[in-house]
Amino acid sequence: MDVILTGTGSPLPSADRAGPSTLVKAGDTTVLADAGRGVVMRMMAVGVRPDDLDGVIITHMHSDHVCALNDVITTHWVRTREREPLKIWGPIGTARLVERTLLMLEDDIGYRIDHHEPLVAGPQVEVTELSPGDSFCINDVDITTAGTAHAPVHPTIGFRLEHDGVAAALVGDTLPCEGVDILASEADVYVQTVLRRELVELFPGEMAQDILEYHSSVVDAAQTAARVGAKRLVMTHMVPAPTPDEYPEWIARAAEHFTGEILIGDDLTTITV
Ligand SMILES: [Zn+2]
Ligand SMILES: [Zn+2]
Repeated sequence: MDVILTGTGSPLPSADRAGPSTLVKAGDTTVLADAGRGVVMRMMAVGVRPDDLDGVIITHMHSDHVCALNDVITTHWVRTREREPLKIWGPIGTARLVERTLLMLEDDIGYRIDHHEPLVAGPQVEVTELSPGDSFCINDVDITTAGTAHAPVHPTIGFRLEHDGVAAALVGDTLPCEGVDILASEADVYVQTVLRRELVELFPGEMAQDILEYHSSVVDAAQTAARVGAKRLVMTHMVPAPTPDEYPEWIARAAEHFTGEILIGDDLTTITV
């Protein structure tokens, strides 16, 4: 299984980091988790086109995690030769998000159908809404879900993908909680969006301080990884975004609490397990 950090950014714009998204390649199956800013460009950098996706899974509807879903939908649509629907799984509200996205794209869809003879219908998107605890398969990848803690954003879910005896937990934005513990339990790869609490506390303004209330810190993530016996902790969605020379400091902070492998990186960092 390859876990590719297609976007390690956050809502804070960065020239180097695409918005949050993670790509999982397991056997012949390719799954995209979340669709932040620039996701299609980053997917192309690893040779995955939107029409190669076997499914998209969404953790929650915060804009940084879904703002490029329209690009995934459109590029999947215009490139799909077989007219296969794009399959999307996400929490309750995902169908409404997709419906509204298609509404936003309505004029464009009309122009393209008028212009391109092979396009006879708009994007086909098949949405399955999930409740925490639901499980499903994408080809031979078994996926389980659990609720996460990102209030006031609700609902939010995390995912555990299993294939060939290997498990990856992609839990999204969340505080430590029981759901994360379930998903990350003994996972080969535990991917956690993180912030550095002590650095964010130095940010000016009330809105910056609000983000501390619903994200895991590096210490939280490391403590979770240790508690549940995860084999690797992968940090993403780092706030504030570190420069590469600061990576050792982030890793050292986590290593105070977790003795397993700890990874942090630029976009397209790939973890093979
Ligand atoms: Zn969020
Ligand atoms: Zn986020």
